Amino acid sequence: MFMDLLHRLFPPYCVFCQLPSLSWLPLCEICQGLLPASCQGCRQCGLALSHGDLCGPCLSAPPFFDRTYALYPYIDPLTRLIKQLKFQQQLAHAHLLGLLLGTWLQQQYQNDTLPQIILPVPLHVARLRSRGFNQSIELAKPVARVLQIPLKRRLCQRIRTTLPQTELSGSLRKRNLLKAFSLQSLEGYSHIALLDDVVTTGHTVNELARLCKLAGAQRIDVWCVARTQRL
Ligand SMILES: [Zn+2]
Ligand SMILES: [Zn+2]
Repeated sequence: MFMDLLHRLFPPYCVFCQLPSLSWLPLCEICQGLLPASCQGCRQCGLALSHGDLCGPCLSAPPFFDRTYALYPYIDPLTRLIKQLKFQQQLAHAHLLGLLLGTWLQQQYQNDTLPQIILPVPLHVARLRSRGFNQSIELAKPVARVLQIPLKRRLCQRIRTTLPQTELSGSLRKRNLLKAFSLQSLEGYSHIALLDDVVTTGHTVNELARLCKLAGAQRIDVWCVARTQRL
């Protein structure tokens, strides 16, 4: 009743367009209609698939992570919304996208065990200082709340600045991430979710998954708001 009263006194408004929202989510019907359908790609890496549930590269040389759960394909309006979040400090976008990701993941894991912890992809301290926040952590907060999983933001650090993976060619991409992260002990956690805003090449989450497996993790699930569908 209290929430109902609160809702009537302060109706949530859509974080994308400022129109009033009709549901408990800060998202109006029009903007909801503009969001694309969720991805149904390769079970392991999330790339688009025409048939089966694993893509060719995952069959021949699988990545270190075991599953990918990407809420949306990385197309408009997601490209625009994520740029606004990162470069125009639209933190309300992270709150809404995190809520959407969390409630979607709840359905995805209905017949599966949830990871024990969420590890957001860290930013280097220099990038963190210039941006003021880490978008992965901001997205992970509502996800952790919805799923009731601890969010571990200090287990992993980015110890070297790296160039955006999309600006580099194949062999440079791997070298770019060499010794980019340091991971403390996983404190016995064996099933871990890595959370990033967008997964493009997958190299970043793969490097983190490699470190987690070296530290004893058994299963790594990658969670992201958006995934590029083709490399
Ligand atoms: Zn709207
Ligand atoms: Zn794949």
